[in-house]
Amino acid sequence: MSGNRRRALAGADSLQKVKQMEKLIITVALTGNVPTRQMNPNLPVTAEQIAADVRRCRDAGAVLFHVHARDADQKPTLDIDAYKANVRAIKAAAPEVILQLSTGARAGRNWEDRAGPVRLLPEMGSFTTGSNNLPGIVYENSPQFIEFLAGVYRETSVKPEIEVFETGMIANALHLQKKGFLQAPLHFDFVLGAPGAMPGTIKNLLFLSESIPAGSTWTVAGIGKSEIPLSTAAIVMGGHVRVGLEDNLFMPDGSPAANPLLVEKIVKISREIGRDIASADEARSILCLDPANKDRVLFGVAPQPPQALP
Ligand code: ZN
Repeated sequence: MSGNRRRALAGADSLQKVKQMEKLIITVALTGNVPTRQMNPNLPVTAEQIAADVRRCRDAGAVLFHVHARDADQKPTLDIDAYKANVRAIKAAAPEVILQLSTGARAGRNWEDRAGPVRLLPEMGSFTTGSNNLPGIVYENSPQFIEFLAGVYRETSVKPEIEVFETGMIANALHLQKKGFLQAPLHFDFVLGAPGAMPGTIKNLLFLSESIPAGSTWTVAGIGKSEIPLSTAAIVMGGHVRVGLEDNLFMPDGSPAANPLLVEKIVKISREIGRDIASADEARSILCLDPANKDRVLFGVAPQPPQALP
């Protein structure tokens, strides 16, 4: 066989691999804790705005939604009623999507409050297995808190997305798995490019993706300018993608981003490369989510029936 023919076949093989990869799961981090509507008027803040954005992103191809809550002043909150209102509005607007509620610390430090969203029994929750610096704060997740939250995940059978800002957070997750808190297959999100944590480089993405156990799934959340480039790399590498205004407020051309526009961008890139986009049920299967738990969250967020008069 000539060298040219061999090279042509090798090219065809790698193209085939993209075709054979798992379908791409697109997650949207809709709101986060830091951005405001002053920074980007497309930011969804109220339950109604969040639900409308979910529907538009779902129509564009996203299936998994990372959800925070804000109070009436747009401030981040762990108030459980605010989470419930978001969940009710989202599930009414787009019943089939997968919800991943945030347990992040910017909205409060009380352990029970941070675990509250997991106790609502969404299909997934976020779980940062270590501490690091972020702009203006230490993002503190002590070993004691991590073990407490891992216990809540175990007891509720909610699947955690392990948020990895630094390599040690993978080791911490594997330690929790060894102690019986977390079950394989684990799902990781590599958060790269946040000021104060690991820079958003391809080298770091490759290193992290090769540092997790075989059979795990992973996604990447590139912060700021690294969002679309790292997403593109993840599409080619067989990972999954998280985009959204929580992580990045601008399109690559510098214009203000909107969640549906970011999803459309990812879908276009993935189709150009030849990788198909996962439906919600295909994403459940890829992430090994129990389909029986699909609507469990609805029981916990139903409005309380009015009290009977004595
Ligand atoms: Zn978040």
